[in-house]
Amino acid sequence: MDKQWLLDNAFCITSNHEPLGFYRRSGRDTIHLEENYRNIHTEEAVLALKKRGLTMLRTHYHKGMGWEIERADRELTGQMIGHAHKHGLKVQVYIQFGTLHPETYKAEEPGYDDWPMRDRFGNPITLLYSHQNFRHHPCPNRPGYWEHLKRIVREALVVHQADAVGFDNVSWAEEPDICHCDACKAGFTAFLKERYPTAEAATKRFGYAPLDYIVPPAWNFYSNHYNLLELRQPVLQEWAEFRAASLTKRVVEMYQECKRHNPDVFVEINAFRQTGQNSSFITGLYVSDLSEGCDGYWSEMEPSPGYSNGLLHHKIRAYKCAGALDKVLFTGHVGGGLGDEPEPLKKHLLAVSESMVFQFGSINGVGLIRNYLPVKNDSPPHMPLLRFSNANRDMYLAAQLPFVHIYESRASLSNSNFESHYANILMQQVLLREKIPYAIIHDLDNIEDCRAVVLPGMMCLTDAEIRKLTDFVTGGGGLVLTGNTGDFDEFYTGWMDQSLKGCLGIAGHTNGGSLFFGGGLWGDRVDKGGMHLSGVGKGKVAAFPRLSSSRDFDSYDWTSKAFAQSQIWVGPDSWEAPFGMHRIGSAIRWVLHNDLPVVVNAPEAVVFELTGSDDIRYLHLLNYDTSTPAKAVTLSFKDDVKSAVLYIPYAGVEKELDVLCGWENGRPSVVIDEVDVYAVVKVILQS
Ligand SMILES: [Zn+2]
Repeated sequence: MDKQWLLDNAFCITSNHEPLGFYRRSGRDTIHLEENYRNIHTEEAVLALKKRGLTMLRTHYHKGMGWEIERADRELTGQMIGHAHKHGLKVQVYIQFGTLHPETYKAEEPGYDDWPMRDRFGNPITLLYSHQNFRHHPCPNRPGYWEHLKRIVREALVVHQADAVGFDNVSWAEEPDICHCDACKAGFTAFLKERYPTAEAATKRFGYAPLDYIVPPAWNFYSNHYNLLELRQPVLQEWAEFRAASLTKRVVEMYQECKRHNPDVFVEINAFRQTGQNSSFITGLYVSDLSEGCDGYWSEMEPSPGYSNGLLHHKIRAYKCAGALDKVLFTGHVGGGLGDEPEPLKKHLLAVSESMVFQFGSINGVGLIRNYLPVKNDSPPHMPLLRFSNANRDMYLAAQLPFVHIYESRASLSNSNFESHYANILMQQVLLREKIPYAIIHDLDNIEDCRAVVLPGMMCLTDAEIRKLTDFVTGGGGLVLTGNTGDFDEFYTGWMDQSLKGCLGIAGHTNGGSLFFGGGLWGDRVDKGGMHLSGVGKGKVAAFPRLSSSRDFDSYDWTSKAFAQSQIWVGPDSWEAPFGMHRIGSAIRWVLHNDLPVVVNAPEAVVFELTGSDDIRYLHLLNYDTSTPAKAVTLSFKDDVKSAVLYIPYAGVEKELDVLCGWENGRPSVVIDEVDVYAVVKVILQS
């Protein structure tokens, strides 16, 4: 099963990723558990799932419990794969990458004690969630588990012919539970010496030449991981790099092992951390680094889509990040509208529709297998959307047509536990609510393809990046930057005259002086007038102060909050509109010379995405406020329109729209009476 299969089909996934023993050990036994568990693997079950539109089954294979202990469960999965293949369904096997069960492994693996990560006192590091303290994590810097895992992968692909592999828990244990084993300590100093091989290089980086006694960070009561706002110390930065490099090496190794047995196998990793968290520091991974070791990501961290209390929750960034890396993003819509935790129907339709719009028409994960069996619902709510998507593949495989590109700078997001993540969240809120379709880029290699690049609080930019961005603007590009973007280099050292604002000739650049919490020329809030607009060469620049919102915190509030949640991350309660949002939106349109192919007039909770080609455009409208239908949504076009057809995919509506010449902004326009959850307009332009 390669990526093309996923593109050809509006893939629809259901999951049963735990073996029977794990349900019991984790305290989730039920009276009919064993009977239901066995029924799930039968041919009748596969046929029932197929009838409900499922195209891919994600099922247990290796929960990290052991070779012998899970043998019978793997055999069941093998039988299920046979039934699925007979009826044209694909199977992804769930394989634990990052957790282990010592209680079972020790009974069958004499070398087990060499596998787990160790804390400062030599004890195995245990799982942090769901009170499953009986699980350990394998250390990526010691070979034992990884050789064992290859045996499991081989069996899944060669003996049982799985179509796809899904590796779960692809990360290090989270700060402060970092590995202090001898291999990690020795590996870290070797890593430092390789990167800073001379006394001069080491002294320039760390302040002195000896590197042998630098150890992994050890926190104390007052100086802790949750009250560290930014990573300015070189050892902390290098430790994050070391962890990311060690993890990437193992991910790539396992990816190559999978492909060795079957070049067409699709490999997915559950490594997409939540937006707002510095995953590089906290879990030792940076998502784009891992792209060479997977074909897709699983995201279980982002909030379910919706709009309430001024918060716009979405998975759009996750979809766009995966898209930028040319990967698929799998995700689940909780409960699937059917099962244990049923969502309101409209919320479920919204989640599926969001996946369709941002993930080439895929339905994605619609809940657990047990929610469908025994047969509970002959026609689950995703069925009309699935039929529509499969009947309109062109609509969903059409190219995205972003107006701007957000540059997610790796150095900025890795060195920041707060500011760059917060700014990134708020800027994406601006773009979504202001109906400015965007893409995400992880490097500036193809910057010439962009009309405008947006840098929200991307504080740490290399000299080469600053020169590239400056050339881009002087050559006619647009640039939008906020806060201390480009005031520091990749090591968080303050630039002097070569800061981005310095190079753009913007008066009052901060020289790395006023760090993130206001101050200086950039301290005035956008809605109070703190905004800089200028022409630079042939291009335009809009620079804003630090983005902030009503839920803003000062550093004291922030660390109290982080202490309360034991972790530092900017959570979904911050996903609101920043102050001055409309001014920022206007400035972005000005940077684009107010030359937009489509202008959408709709309430704030309606998100707009544009796809298509030179002569056909698809305008997708998603209403995240499922309690209030959006009325009289107006679309006005730059180009002449030949025809426009409205589709409401879940309701079976297909209707020709009147094109009103010169209606809004003096342009050809169409009006949609109501967008309840999802509508798409297909427009044919006059050639
Ligand atoms: Zn270790």
